[in-house]
Amino acid sequence: MTQTLGDFPAEPKADPNLKAPTATRGRGPRQAVLFDIDGTLIVTDGAGARSWELAFADLWDVRADISRYSDTGMTDPEVGRRTFEAVMGRGPSPSEFARLLERRMHFLTMTVAESSGYHVLPGVEELLPRLVAQGYVLGLVTGNLEAAAHVKLARAGLNRYFSFGGYGSDSADRVEVTRTAMRRGSVVFGKPVPPERFLAVGDTPNDVEAAHAAGIECVAVASHKYNIEQLQRSGADWVVPDLREGLPPLAE
Ligand SMILES: [Mg+2]
Repeated sequence: MTQTLGDFPAEPKADPNLKAPTATRGRGPRQAVLFDIDGTLIVTDGAGARSWELAFADLWDVRADISRYSDTGMTDPEVGRRTFEAVMGRGPSPSEFARLLERRMHFLTMTVAESSGYHVLPGVEELLPRLVAQGYVLGLVTGNLEAAAHVKLARAGLNRYFSFGGYGSDSADRVEVTRTAMRRGSVVFGKPVPPERFLAVGDTPNDVEAAHAAGIECVAVASHKYNIEQLQRSGADWVVPDLREGLPPLAE
């Protein structure tokens, strides 16, 4: 069963009642927006860290505080491996690593569901449907394992907006995760989509750096751990306090 993509519109089709996608810096219209998850779309308030803690306690009866061994922007497999090395004093065997990942996913479903501080960040629930209505295809770029990303988004019903993504299960390197998302975006569009047709949205200097290394401009959102000034210093192309105003390069 094949689909013809020959009649795919060259430009995103805009709802006449909404602002049209804008050409950016003379390089043609954007087609896809790549969103980071934690601190950009949602905050799980420690559900991720608690799931690792429960997994280590269940398997090896040890206390594992991942915040001591990992940084924001690190991918899940890297967090698991580093924490294992720190608390066990050696690297995990392949079977230990496999069991760790399974237990962690098992507990994540529970910790996300039970997190009292879980919330969707301001403006997200209005922005995502608006972008889709304007004709943008949305993707994810995240250090989360693919399944973990979807567990985190499911509680808020946000999975439906995202057609593709690059995940921490694709690479430990966020630049490569971003490139993976771009390749998958091209598959969704049925033809290669150049970097300038993408826009990235993230909340950390790490997100900005990875987007730029992959050739994509980046909107940084200061609604979580980094403030406007820090994000400006990181070289973000645009910095917004939160997503209530929308994305500057896609509005006029
Ligand atoms: Mg983030």
